[in-house]
Amino acid sequence: MHFGLSEEQEMIVSTVRSFVEKEIYPHEAEVERTGEVPRELADEIRRKTLELGFYACNFPQEVGGAGLGHVDFALVERELGRGSMALTHFFGRPQNILMACTGAQRDRYLLPAVRGERMDALAMTEPDAGSDVRGMKCSARREGGDWVLNGTKHFISGADHADFVIVFVATGEDMTDRGPKKRITTFLVDRGTPGFTIRDGYRSVSHRGYKNMILEFDDCRLPDDQVLGEVDGGFAVMNEWLYATRITVATMSVGRARRCFDYALGQAAERRQFGQPIGRFQGVGFQIADMITEIDAADFLTLAAAWRLDQGLPANREIASAKLYATEMLARVSDATLQIHGGMGLMDDLPIERFWRDARVERIWDGTSEIQRHIISRELLRPLGA
Ligand SMILES: Cc1cc2nc3c(=O)[nH]c(=O)nc-3n(C[C@H](O)[C@H](O)[C@H](O)COP(=O)(O)OP(=O)(O)OC[C@H]3O[C@@H](n4cnc5c(N)ncnc54)[C@H](O)[C@@H]3O)c2cc1C
Repeated sequence: MHFGLSEEQEMIVSTVRSFVEKEIYPHEAEVERTGEVPRELADEIRRKTLELGFYACNFPQEVGGAGLGHVDFALVERELGRGSMALTHFFGRPQNILMACTGAQRDRYLLPAVRGERMDALAMTEPDAGSDVRGMKCSARREGGDWVLNGTKHFISGADHADFVIVFVATGEDMTDRGPKKRITTFLVDRGTPGFTIRDGYRSVSHRGYKNMILEFDDCRLPDDQVLGEVDGGFAVMNEWLYATRITVATMSVGRARRCFDYALGQAAERRQFGQPIGRFQGVGFQIADMITEIDAADFLTLAAAWRLDQGLPANREIASAKLYATEMLARVSDATLQIHGGMGLMDDLPIERFWRDARVERIWDGTSEIQRHIISRELLRPLGA
């Protein structure tokens, strides 16, 4: 067993860390203030990421990516987690579900996405179907040899900048012992397709500038070659390619917690009350001890889950544990950091109130904490017949 990083991994970490510090941190306050990422800034971050050779680093080399494994990619995401999500979004990591593209889809979607020429967004959630994906109402019916899509998706991150959307819709229903079960198909839908509208979503307290959008399909007509994977095979594509995305949430939470912790430690050492640094008071010093212990635990849990993926081992429970623990750890660490800063922690002169707000969504998206607990307990109980 070896817990250290290789020379190459150390290089990945230091390259991405310095990119985030140099290219992301200076713009964060402005994005926070305006809730917008100017197009020129987005283009500049994308261009610099391409120059660095890190754009689409999660894709195999044969399609133009850097071919990083799961642990290496987790290290990238961990460092990106330190920065504003609205900005690091343009350090492009297209959805690896695009690897399911076949034939002409590769030239129209996969390869331009890897080259940074086209951006994607992924749409599953609907107003009445969040955790319960199969409850979706958005549907596609067959008509004159085409598919006709109708329905609404909401909370779709990054769709404001997306050139196309990977969307999951119901294409039928089977009767099972446990009642009706929707069949799902995945479609690639270009911005500008008649009957497809992208409009502003809600204003979130977390990750300002990283917008969530509402997608509307109103008799949106698509030919067969817009189907990604097999017709009715949406869950197969989802399970094959989206399996690992929860690790991203976990690793980014670890990165953000480490940035938060640097502020907490600095404040504990420098802020003096009653004639001594506040860190000398056990009430503060013990918080610092608990924070770093939890951050390290989340880091190891996350990297171990990524390592299992690299080994081809089952990792569903481990990924769920990492997502659950890292996101709940971030909530505790960002809250304690704010507490250690006293009143100034709440003021937007420091980024701490932002870390605290940003932390909130991590327990909700990509499967809520309750859904992760459900996955973990199911994986443990099912083999026992329960
Ligand atoms: C800012 C933001 C960006 C997002 N980006 C995207 C995106 O890009 N693409 C996309 O498709 N989706 C996206 N989502 C959607 C996100 O994945 C969902 O919000 C999440 O899955 C929860 O769904 P919901 O909000 O409808 O809550 P619900 O599913 O309605 O859940 C409400 C509560 O009930 C609990 N609950 C539900 N079912 C169970 C159960 N079986 N057991 C125990 N508790 C349960 C939940 O844990 C939660 O506490 C985004 C969400 C947000 C907030």
